[in-house]
Amino acid sequence: MDTLEARYRLLLDGLRRSAPDGGIRLLAVSKAQPAAAVRALAALGQCAFGENYVQEALAKQRELADLKLEWHLIGPLQSNKSREAARHFDWVQSVDRAKLLPLLDRERPADRPALNVLLQVNIDGEASKSGCAPEDVMALAEAAAALPRLRLRGLMAIPEPHPDTAQRRAAFARMRALFEALRERHPGCDTLSMGMSEDWPLALAEGATLIRVGSALFGARPATP
Ligand SMILES: *Cc1c(COP(=O)(O)O)cnc(C)c1O
Repeated sequence: MDTLEARYRLLLDGLRRSAPDGGIRLLAVSKAQPAAAVRALAALGQCAFGENYVQEALAKQRELADLKLEWHLIGPLQSNKSREAARHFDWVQSVDRAKLLPLLDRERPADRPALNVLLQVNIDGEASKSGCAPEDVMALAEAAAALPRLRLRGLMAIPEPHPDTAQRRAAFARMRALFEALRERHPGCDTLSMGMSEDWPLALAEGATLIRVGSALFGARPATP
């Protein structure tokens, strides 16, 4: 049976097999999915959802205001959206330049906990992709850690969807090395976000602590308008 529930159970089973000790977080990527699909997955016990576009996320959050969900921004963040990102998300995984940090810090409401932040790394050096260069991670981390309304939690990456598994694995392994170096300076960092529908088992094998899964859960995304 190919239903949301069947796909969710299958994924949770796979996760348990790959990581019997637990501790791996599943982020359900609900971009391009209607609020009703999020509600249905929440009813099965999923609480963390990832969105790429601030406006789309805000509309869904309004419809789902009666639920206690955790929202992660995983799409590229423009500075003019940083106010809404800081107010309406629990995590921003796509911080990739220093300029965003004081904006997010300033806009995080005083009555909310500090905003959880991941630094996005362009691990394959792709020209078209967002993310900071690996060599910029430490400076960005210092800047993030100095701001009281931000809580630096770790790193995020979207490696190139290389057809050669060994190449992908190598990219995940480079992320893990960066993450370990980061943790030496910032021991509070506990999150390495990598792996999607197609490659999460590989990402887990290389040390991911959070995987971001969309289509393997919700089915193929409807075409974006
Ligand atoms: C869309 C997206 C995902 C999920 O992709 P699937 O292949 O549908 O699992 C994960 N991370 C980011 C940053 C995305 O944009």
